[in-house]
Amino acid sequence: MSRTYIMLKPDAIQRKLAGKIIERIESKGYVITQIKVMQLEPAVLKEHYAHISDKPFYPALESYMMSGPVWGMIVEGENAVQGMRQIMGATKFEEALAGTIRGDFATSTTKNVIHGSDSEENAEIEIKRFFG
Ligand code: UDP
Ligand code: MG
Repeated sequence: MSRTYIMLKPDAIQRKLAGKIIERIESKGYVITQIKVMQLEPAVLKEHYAHISDKPFYPALESYMMSGPVWGMIVEGENAVQGMRQIMGATKFEEALAGTIRGDFATSTTKNVIHGSDSEENAEIEIKRFFG
């Protein structure tokens, strides 16, 4: 059993995809143990995306991530970090396979509907960041 930090990004909420995405998470056997609706601010985004905050696409990413509320979630289950990354699909728009959440719902590399932690260590850091 492990846990991960998942976030439904603003486009997922605006496009009313939350139900469809959560259905996939639950169907895979994962359990959502906490969920929180948040409007993100520049400071927390800069921290969350510190590994890419110097990239040319960062300003567009920031305004996208602030374009409406997100749903932060703690998701638990067997190998949740890696398993969720698998059902989410690849970061790059052209690499996200059909059948994955991003492959089926993303409209660009930036607007890719979902975040998931990339390691057990980062999962704990991100859970602390968003749930305290
Ligand atoms: N992103 C982007 N352009 C890129 C790479 C990433 O807009 O070339 C955005 C995208 O929304 C992605 C987020 O920045 O989900 C975080 O990037 P990361 O490399 O951590 O990918 P992830 O872990 O989300 O797959
Ligand atoms: Mg990442």
